[in-house]
Amino acid sequence: MGDGSDSPHLFAGVELGGTKCVCILAAGPDDIRDRQVIPTTAPWETLPAIKAVLDGWWGTHGFAGLGIASFGPIKLNPRAADYGQVGATNKPDWEGADLLGPLKAAFPVPIGFDTDVNGAALAEIRWGSGRGLDDFAYVTVGTGVGVGLIVHGKPTRGFSHSEIGHILVPRLANDDMVSVCRFHDDCVEGLASGTALNARLGGRALADVASDDPVWEPIVHTLASMVHSLACTTGPIRVAMGGGVLAGQPQLLPRINAEVEASLSGYMQIPGDGAYVTAPELGTMAGPLGAIALAIDAVGAPA
Ligand code: ADP
Ligand code: ZN
Repeated sequence: MGDGSDSPHLFAGVELGGTKCVCILAAGPDDIRDRQVIPTTAPWETLPAIKAVLDGWWGTHGFAGLGIASFGPIKLNPRAADYGQVGATNKPDWEGADLLGPLKAAFPVPIGFDTDVNGAALAEIRWGSGRGLDDFAYVTVGTGVGVGLIVHGKPTRGFSHSEIGHILVPRLANDDMVSVCRFHDDCVEGLASGTALNARLGGRALADVASDDPVWEPIVHTLASMVHSLACTTGPIRVAMGGGVLAGQPQLLPRINAEVEASLSGYMQIPGDGAYVTAPELGTMAGPLGAIALAIDAVGAPA
């Protein structure tokens, strides 16, 4: 296949994660042609390794569009000089890394670019727990707390992508743990991420922690406060909440739902019949399929 863009049904997607990057070549969730995993080390190693995978696909199968779903923060203003770069991050060496430039120069196809969680939200809307919804949020509670926020079918834009994981929330009375977010004392990620959970456990093994242990109370409270704020701002019709902490503790979802209902206190009737917050459906494929969703949207293909 000569010109790599002559496979109109195939898309390439790259999920850039903190520990690994997953590249897939796919027509959709049920038609994944190849999958390559590259460790995330330094940008000068990882980015050329990703490009080499894409070069290989370009030369063999070809693809009609490319999607990059990256850990954040990332620079998303297409008119700004820093478009496509990584912003201030905890990851050494990655701040200022140019994710898009070399790919744009190499592949003359539409390229979609957004956060990993915005991509995952779009994938859940297209193929998973948010099917058919235009207003939707995808939350992952893992090492950090990431939120993909879709309003009227598109990820929100302001001066940046949304950063709901860093909104400030009221603490539960007597919760005096030191936030694990180095920027904020009282943000969701600082109080309720997997990293915060580990700090709260203070060396106790997760296996020894009962599902009704008091350690879950501030975590439920924090995540419910965040959902209360989401319901009051853009009003997603459903909130999918997953990641290592939620997946490992299935008892948390109904508690979060009950606390959201209680805290909204009848002011708004939220959809979902008590299950406003639900489990995502795409599991570990949400990230890579998110990149494919970004590619499809960039090309403008029908859903
Ligand atoms: P990442 O955010 O790096 O993609 P995950 O979504 O897999 O990772 O989440 C990792 C986090 O999940 C870790 O901080 C860990 O503490 C937490 N975790 C893993 N298993 C469980 C469990 N059974 N119960 C609660 N938390 C868990
Ligand atoms: Zn924070």
